[in-house]
Amino acid sequence: MSRSRIRVVLAGAGHAHLRVLGRAGTLRAAGVEPILVAPPAFHYSGLATAVLSGALPPERAVLDVAALAARFGVPHIAGKVAAVDRQARRLCLSDGQELAYDAVSFNIGSVTDPGGDLPGEGETWRVKPLSGLAGLRARLDDHIADGVSPSIVVAGGGPTGFEVAAALAGRMERAGLSPGMVILRRSTPDWAPGRALERLSAALQSRGILQTSGEATSRRPGEVLLSDGRALPCDLLVLATGLQAPAIFGGLGLPLFADGRLEVGPTLQSPGDPTVFAVGDCAVITGSPRPPAGVFGVRAAPTLAHNLAALGTGARLATYTPQARWLSILDLGDGTGLALRGRLWSLGRGALILKRRLDLGFIDGLRATSGEMLED
Ligand SMILES: Cc1cc2nc3c(=O)[nH]c(=O)nc-3n(C[C@H](O)[C@H](O)[C@H](O)COP(=O)(O)OP(=O)(O)OC[C@H]3O[C@@H](n4cnc5c(N)ncnc54)[C@H](O)[C@@H]3O)c2cc1C
Repeated sequence: MSRSRIRVVLAGAGHAHLRVLGRAGTLRAAGVEPILVAPPAFHYSGLATAVLSGALPPERAVLDVAALAARFGVPHIAGKVAAVDRQARRLCLSDGQELAYDAVSFNIGSVTDPGGDLPGEGETWRVKPLSGLAGLRARLDDHIADGVSPSIVVAGGGPTGFEVAAALAGRMERAGLSPGMVILRRSTPDWAPGRALERLSAALQSRGILQTSGEATSRRPGEVLLSDGRALPCDLLVLATGLQAPAIFGGLGLPLFADGRLEVGPTLQSPGDPTVFAVGDCAVITGSPRPPAGVFGVRAAPTLAHNLAALGTGARLATYTPQARWLSILDLGDGTGLALRGRLWSLGRGALILKRRLDLGFIDGLRATSGEMLED
């Protein structure tokens, strides 16, 4: 590559970068050469709980990143960005390779907030990265094969904790077992209208998913211990204790949000370094923080693609403001869903039908573009 061209490294194949790949031709025409550094598989969160519950086979939720990059002629390095040397404009990759950049764009998602490691013995699973859920599924299947319903504690009272608990219950129900599960939450949930949460809680309770307030402090075989002295039966502890940015941003020397996400302005650039862009869960737009959701990366993609191309053409940069209301739908693992948009909500089969249509549309659309074939 001629160094008169601008090299933009796309770090991570998150929702936005998957869309930016489709604009690679426009970038190249602008004198910008994109390179993707990302693990070879993209695990799609919209279908993660459908796979966990057994409603869909695992391959439905995984996209071949290499095939998509190849389809648009974008060089793909399979791996992760491990560190950034901003002074030298060089990335250090997980295999030790170094990669020079003129600009770098991060779309690397989020990781589970460990909330402090729990001392003691016992199995603990984190909901992120999503690739790790395969291990949780396998462990649950071991218990199911023995014909026993394990005691599960899902720590985390946010939407992810509820959705994951419902999915795990769904997997046991499909096997003819009655779930024994507790959602352990720090406070009373307020992430949905009160009536929606009441209906959701009642539906989950009728399936054996209970809730209690408290803080896990340690493990011992078969139990999790709480700060108030109680012990909950627990064969599998699942942490859905919130999401935070991957640790890599800690060493960047750029403004970060309180939870470690990279702060960016409306042009999606760091205020401390215009050669660093970030989108999706790993970023916070100054003045417009949003909870983690794939939709924000998808919606930011056209602005990101425009601004990366503008590095080559000198065109005026575009701005992105995340929408104030968005649709999110929880898959409850039993053929129903909870749809939320602002104060509006709907619980039932219709919500899940809509979710499947949107999520399968997203991933199958990308798959069709890359020419990836799934066996029946
Ligand atoms: C169980 C569960 C269910 C969820 N369900 C939904 C849902 O239905 N709808 C929804 O909107 N949100 C859902 N979420 C939230 C959702 O996961 C995130 O908000 C969304 O995936 C963020 O998208 P993103 O594009 O920022 O990053 P991601 O989709 O997480 O993609 C980031 C990519 O970057 C890669 N990567 C990570 N680190 C590096 C690195 N250092 N270098 C290179 N590549 C890297 C990762 O492998 C990954 O492929 C769910 C979360 C969980 C845990």
